[in-house]
Amino acid sequence: MDKQQAEEQILALRKKLDQYSYDYYVLDNPSVPDSEYDQRLRELQELEAQFPELITADSPTQRVGDKPLEGFVKVRHTIPMLSLGNAFNEDELRDFDRRVRQGLGDDFSYVCELKIDGLAVSLRYEDGKFVLGSTRGDATVGEDITGNLRTIRSIPLSIAEKNTIEVRGEAYMPHKSFLALNNIREKQGQEPFANPRNAAAGSLRQLDPKIAASRNLDIFLYGVGEWRGKRITTHSGRLEYMKELGLKTNPEWKKCNSIDEVLKYVDDWSKERPNLSYEIDGIVIKVDDLDQQEELGYTAKSPKWAIAYKFPAEEVLTTLRDIELSV
Ligand code: NAD
Repeated sequence: MDKQQAEEQILALRKKLDQYSYDYYVLDNPSVPDSEYDQRLRELQELEAQFPELITADSPTQRVGDKPLEGFVKVRHTIPMLSLGNAFNEDELRDFDRRVRQGLGDDFSYVCELKIDGLAVSLRYEDGKFVLGSTRGDATVGEDITGNLRTIRSIPLSIAEKNTIEVRGEAYMPHKSFLALNNIREKQGQEPFANPRNAAAGSLRQLDPKIAASRNLDIFLYGVGEWRGKRITTHSGRLEYMKELGLKTNPEWKKCNSIDEVLKYVDDWSKERPNLSYEIDGIVIKVDDLDQQEELGYTAKSPKWAIAYKFPAEEVLTTLRDIELSV
């Protein structure tokens, strides 16, 4: 392919992906399955890798999420809320492990977590009080959705840590709430939500908190932003400390000392997934030691010390069908 052909394809792919992203992030109403989006994004990444001079700052490969919605107060994140690099198979996970090993040698551990399919949010606590809750938005600027997040009962409004901390995680809609909500919507002649993620995002981006309150959302916290609290040196230590503070973390995380252990965790959860009461779309793997994380660093879009393994698309459909049949 010559440069001109590549440029034409690149422009066409960007246009498509921008439209998909707008439908997904701004309207909370995806027009194509995630697998289609991921596939097109990969194609664009590959073309841009062949012709790096055609990469532009506004390319979907360089961006996280989309612009915040009008109507909400904007929040500038003190530390950006990045996305994660993706792996779609065992080889890509082994490649990630090789890159980590090149940077750190052999002396490190991973933490594996379930990848919750919801909306990334940040919760800020000052003087032990929940003062600000925001969406990720485009990674640097999100939306103030404090009123809506306060309706999630598992979010404590006060905690025992008095120094300023920000904790980050995924607000999600449990299957039970999702099916109940779509049932009501269908009875009222409204269009059902495509999936629990879009239902959660749609509920939290309503200007009236009464709507979010009626939707029975929940949260799992898995990371931090600005942190002036107790000094902690590992990601697993952070998860334990958050739990101690009453900040809800997912109990299924596991420390793994080799990529083979990681692959076993991935395999086990691919099978266990239909038995969960909430939706997951993959597994997140993170280097545990925080100094080692810093050593590996970041790309513009994601940390180099973590990766998201995505479950194959067919499984998503089977799982959703199974759930509907079993409720
Ligand atoms: P991502 O879903 O690939 O992964 C990163 C996100 O995972 C994090 O930002 C965080 O929100 C979440 N996450 C869940 N559990 C986590 C954990 N334990 N630790 C850390 N993070 C965790 O990236 P993204 O940038 O959020 O979004 C891209 C996704 O959106 C892709 O799945 C893509 O298919 C989908 N998408 C779909 C369309 C469409 O039209 N269908 C359009 C745009 C994007």
